[in-house]
Amino acid sequence: MSDQNNDCIFCKIIKKQAKSYTIYEDEDTVAFLNIYPVSKGHTLVVPKNHAKDLVSGTEDDAVALMRTVYKIAPVIIKILNATGFNLGMNHGRDAGQEVDHTHFHIMPRYHGVERSFSELDPAEHEMQEVADELKQALSKI
Ligand code: 5GP
Ligand code: ZN
Repeated sequence: MSDQNNDCIFCKIIKKQAKSYTIYEDEDTVAFLNIYPVSKGHTLVVPKNHAKDLVSGTEDDAVALMRTVYKIAPVIIKILNATGFNLGMNHGRDAGQEVDHTHFHIMPRYHGVERSFSELDPAEHEMQEVADELKQALSKI
């Protein structure tokens, strides 16, 4: 049973009480598309247990989080024909953290496309198409 916070948007996504483009889930972690992506396929990876940031959570959750990044990032890159990715974490307000539930950002990057951190504004159907493709590929790992 995971430990969650009723006021946390990521906990609501984990509990499926808020809309999300979830692409992967295992016992300890969930991955879903960022609704304000900086690149196509920008994914957030979170532990199911609520903790405001990495070092407030358990070591087991930190390890589980990295294990999920290790497993899903290559699949995301391959399916979207990306050529690399940025892996990021904003830890604390002064580092730019806005959502107080530990998360990694996987930001796929594409040869010839500027490496921007500005938010794109994809249409809902584009988000859904990316999510469907990734979910299908990740269901096989
Ligand atoms: P932070 O700055 O805390 O590292 O990033 C939080 C991220 O969560 C932001 O990039 C923002 O776009 C994303 N975000 C905020 N609210 C939601 C939401 O309701 N759903 C999803 N999928 N992403 C969100
Ligand atoms: Zn939470």
